[in-house]
Amino acid sequence: MYDPQPTASHYVNGAYLEDTSGTPIPVIYPATGEVIATVYAATPAVIDAALAAAEAAQKLWAKVSPRERGRVLTRAAQIMRERNHDLSVLETRDTGKPLQETLVADATSGADALEYFGGIAAGLTGEHIPLGEDWVYTIREALGVCVGIGAWNYPTQIACWKGAPALACGNAMVFKPSETTPLCALKIAEILTEAGAPAGLFNVVQGMGEVGSALVTDPRVAKVSLTGSVPTGRKVYAAAAEQMKHVTMELGGKSPLVIFDDADLDNAVSGAINGNFYSSGQVCSNGTRVFVQKGIKEAFLARLAERLKNAVIGDPLDEATSFGPMVSERQMQIVQGYINKGRAEGARLISGGGRVERDGFFLEPTVFADVTDDMTIAREEIFGPVMAVLDFDTEAEAIARANATEFGLSAGVFTRDLSRAHRVIGQLRAGSCFINSYNDAPVEAPFGGVKASGVGRENSKAALDHWSQLKSVYVRMGDVEAAF
Ligand code: NDP
Repeated sequence: MYDPQPTASHYVNGAYLEDTSGTPIPVIYPATGEVIATVYAATPAVIDAALAAAEAAQKLWAKVSPRERGRVLTRAAQIMRERNHDLSVLETRDTGKPLQETLVADATSGADALEYFGGIAAGLTGEHIPLGEDWVYTIREALGVCVGIGAWNYPTQIACWKGAPALACGNAMVFKPSETTPLCALKIAEILTEAGAPAGLFNVVQGMGEVGSALVTDPRVAKVSLTGSVPTGRKVYAAAAEQMKHVTMELGGKSPLVIFDDADLDNAVSGAINGNFYSSGQVCSNGTRVFVQKGIKEAFLARLAERLKNAVIGDPLDEATSFGPMVSERQMQIVQGYINKGRAEGARLISGGGRVERDGFFLEPTVFADVTDDMTIAREEIFGPVMAVLDFDTEAEAIARANATEFGLSAGVFTRDLSRAHRVIGQLRAGSCFINSYNDAPVEAPFGGVKASGVGRENSKAALDHWSQLKSVYVRMGDVEAAF
């Protein structure tokens, strides 16, 4: 029988691996506070075994035809889809996100990435550049052993968004999940083995920042892809730079969602709900600064308050539940701190603001209005269900204020005026943008930020440039001229 619970802490060289001498990490189900598993942080021996296995596997994998590489990934995608329900339950237990979400946004999104990059693998080629009699050809080569480090909000999706393009390009990977949500990536490793990936191609090791840091600084590693906060990104980027490693940084945001007077009110409210309360607000690209033009502001707030009453808060394993807990007690406390700051700094609380009366780390969906640009809740990433509504008069003002942030991950605009939509989006400094929508992230579209929100892009054909490098070969057909 298929058992959705991983059987050991690490997955190295094609099999589960346990080493209980590492620091124990309790895995807590956020909806109850109950410990559902314990994993052990990787010891130096486990880290070394994972990197050695990846190094050996990568040498073999780079020689496998891209078509065959693609076939393995596609098979893995198919297995994930077949097991979507069990994988979704595991994701819900790991993160606390409602099953209603995980059934459609996690293993399915991971499978999309495996399928997309599996399909594209055979098409990865270099080019021929004619130079008269001479010519240059390019070879798209793998980088080597790559490290993926994940945040806790999308453990399955992050492992696949990094693993799928890395493997398609001929790399091997050592993946370190967040210590808060260590379970799901292990299942991806298991499924890849089942789909035919050679032992050592995709390894998972557990641990806190020190384990991530040991991986990043190991000379065997050619590339690091991190999904995490800006402060961690700064550290990891700097450490990778020491050895001139490739990096992708998918970091935090404080993204603007600009709603004009002429927007369709219900669609705009839906966009704001999706961009603030999905996954209890624990989404990097969330549009947490909601700029609403003054003419529509009160109608927007009234409709939003009404719609929030429909949120079903409760047991995430019940498919009727649409709003779950924070991932951890610590994250709940951080978010409560921001809610208190919002109150203290004079924002008007429209709804929520408190804990939900039940076990686990539940907070109410919270909306503040009359937020000003200088308030803490308008400047800092909260990573929880706290929407800040700010109002504005003119388009130029909205653009200037939306851009006045160190972040640049996402941005959205709601308007019925097509020209304005494109004009505004064109001026917003963000990597992943939306017109009359929010937070769609299909694998076909590049995903990533500008400014402090990161470097590089995940998903789409753009990701291939970040997981491979070009070798160019000049071929001279005639004699070689020399000065002497
Ligand atoms: P953190 O930055 O705290 O951690 C991210 C990962 O990095 C974790 O696995 C962490 O390990 C690890 N880590 C911490 N320190 C180091 C280090 N010195 N060297 C190597 N690895 C290290 O982020 P969170 O897990 O708290 O996730 C939330 C953040 O992630 C938010 O800022 C959010 O915006 C961002 N995010 C960005 C996304 C994007 O695509 N742009 C998507 C999702 C989230 P551990 O925590 O186990 O100690």
